Amino acid sequence: MISRNKLFLGLVIGLLIIIGICLFNALNFESRQIFEKEKKHTKISNQAIERLKTAIGYKTISSENTNLIDSNEFLNFHRFLEGSFPEIHRNLELTKIGNLSLLFRWEGTNTKLKPILLMSHQDIVPIDSTTIEKWELEPFSGGSKNGYIYGRGTLDVKSGILAQMEAVELLLKKGFKPTRTIYLAYGHDEEVGGQKGAKKIAQFLKNQNVKIEFILDEGGSIISDVIPGLQNPVALIGVAEKGYLSLELSVSAKGGHSSMPPSETAIGILSKAISNLENNPLPYTTDGVGSLMFDYLAPEMTFSARLAFGNKWLFNPIIKRKLEQNNGTRATLHTTIAATIIESGTKENVLPTSAKATVNFRIIPGENSSSVQKYVKQIINDNRVKIKKTTHFQDEPSGISNPESPNFRNIQKSISAIFPKTLVAPYLVLGSTDARHYNLLSKNIYRFVPFRLSKSDLSRMHGLNERISIKNYKESINFYLELLQRTTQK
Ligand SMILES: [Zn+2]
Repeated sequence: MISRNKLFLGLVIGLLIIIGICLFNALNFESRQIFEKEKKHTKISNQAIERLKTAIGYKTISSENTNLIDSNEFLNFHRFLEGSFPEIHRNLELTKIGNLSLLFRWEGTNTKLKPILLMSHQDIVPIDSTTIEKWELEPFSGGSKNGYIYGRGTLDVKSGILAQMEAVELLLKKGFKPTRTIYLAYGHDEEVGGQKGAKKIAQFLKNQNVKIEFILDEGGSIISDVIPGLQNPVALIGVAEKGYLSLELSVSAKGGHSSMPPSETAIGILSKAISNLENNPLPYTTDGVGSLMFDYLAPEMTFSARLAFGNKWLFNPIIKRKLEQNNGTRATLHTTIAATIIESGTKENVLPTSAKATVNFRIIPGENSSSVQKYVKQIINDNRVKIKKTTHFQDEPSGISNPESPNFRNIQKSISAIFPKTLVAPYLVLGSTDARHYNLLSKNIYRFVPFRLSKSDLSRMHGLNERISIKNYKESINFYLELLQRTTQK
C-alpha cells in the first residue's frame, strides 16, 4: 500500500511538472511577427485626396431589387475613373462584366508566373433617411473636417478602389513593369451578395483558365483599442470567412377567438422554438481558424495571456469563458444564431393562424448548412415548427487560406513596412465578402484593407458618420504601392 506521504509527494511532483511545462510553453511561445524596416512613404498629392472626395459623391447604392439600382450612378462613376486614371485606361485592358462590374488587367512581363488579383467593390449601402441630420457632413458630399473625409464608402469600400488605382497609376507613371499580371476586380453588388458582379467576374476568369497566385479583398483592417492587453495596432488579415444561412421557422394554428385560447398559440410555439435555440448555442471551438488570431497575438501579450494560450490543453475552459464575454470574439468561436424577423397576428382579440420567424446563422468553417439545419431541428424538437431555407442567398463557409504561405508573408511584410509597430494576425471574417466567389481561382485568398479603425469606428461602417482620415488614406495608397512592388517586381 502506498503511504499517504508518498501519495502527497507524487502529487507535488506531478504539479511541479505541470507548472514546469506551462512555464516552458509560455516562455517559448514564439512570436510570429515580422518587423520590416520602415519604408519611406511616397508623397501623395492633394489631387488624389480630391479624387476620393469626388468618388464619394456617386450614389452607387446596390439593392436586391434591380429596379431600384440607378445604373447611371455607376456609369458616371466609371466615366469619372476613366478621366481620373488616364494611364490605367491607356495601358490596362478593361472588361466590363454585367455592364457595371469592372475588371482591369495589367499584363506582366513573365506570363509564366501566376497573376495576382486585388479586389474591392463599387457599391455601397443606402443611408437611413431618419438619421441623415446626425451626419456631421452630408454623406455624399465627400466633405472633409478635422483631417477626415466623410461619406458612405469611405471605409466600405470605395476608398479601396481609389487607393488601389492611385497606386497602379503612380507605378505606370514611373514606368514600372510588373513581372506578374495584375488584375483589379471591382464588383457592383457585394452588399447584396455579389451574384451579378464578383461571381460573374470569377466565372469569366475561370472560363479563361486563369489561376491566381493570391487574391486580396476587404475583410480585416487595422484595429486599435479593441483587443484588451495589446497596445500596438493590430492588422487582421482574413484567411477564411463564415458561411451564411437563413432559416424560416413557421407554425400554423387553428385561429379563433382569443377568449377561449388553446394552451399554446402559434406565437407561443414559435417563441419557445426561438428561445430553445438561443439557450442552446452551437458548440464552441478554441482550436479552429477563429482562434488562430490568438496564436499570433498572444506571444505579444502579457505573461498571463502567453501562459494561457501557450497551454491551451490546460487552460481551454478559461480561454473559452474569457472569449465568450465579448460578442465579437464569441462569434469567432462558433456558428452564431440570430432571430432577425418575426411576423404574426392581425388583431389583439384574434388567435393567429400562423407565426413565422427568420433566423440567421453565420457558420464557422468545419460546419455546413446541412449540419446546422440538423442541429436546429434537433434542438427545436417540435414537429409543429416547420423549418426551411429562405430564398435569400446562402453560402457555405469558405476554405481556409494558409497564414504561413509566402503570399500571406508578403502582405504581412508590406503592412509592417508601411505601418510600423503594427502586429499582424490571421482572422476569421464574420461577415460575407465578395472573395468567397473566387474560391475556384486560388487557394490563397486574403481579406484585408489598410484602414485604421478604433473601437468607436466599428459602428461607422454601414452606419453614421463613416469616415477615413486623410493621413490613413495616404498610408493606404502606400500600402498598395508596397504590396504591388513586393509581389510583382523582379
Ligand atoms: Zn464591403
